[in-house]
Amino acid sequence: MNVTIDDGCIACGACESICEAVFKVEDRAVVNGGAVSGNEDAVKEAASACPVSAIIVE
Ligand code: SF4
Repeated sequence: MNVTIDDGCIACGACESICEAVFKVEDRAVVNGGAVSGNEDAVKEAASACPVSAIIVE
């Protein structure tokens, strides 16, 4: 699973609240790719919760 954040991120913090192992939000969200394995369900949940659909899961 490859997880990226597109330019639409508004740094709302929702993804970090759902899965702080993978997402860190400062000026915008960044992904800790090494933590995705084992957190796939939470990553999908965060992608669904993102208000601007900025989390791209491939
Ligand atoms: S939930 Fe979406 S808009 Fe909010 S910080 Fe995460 S990627 Fe950015």
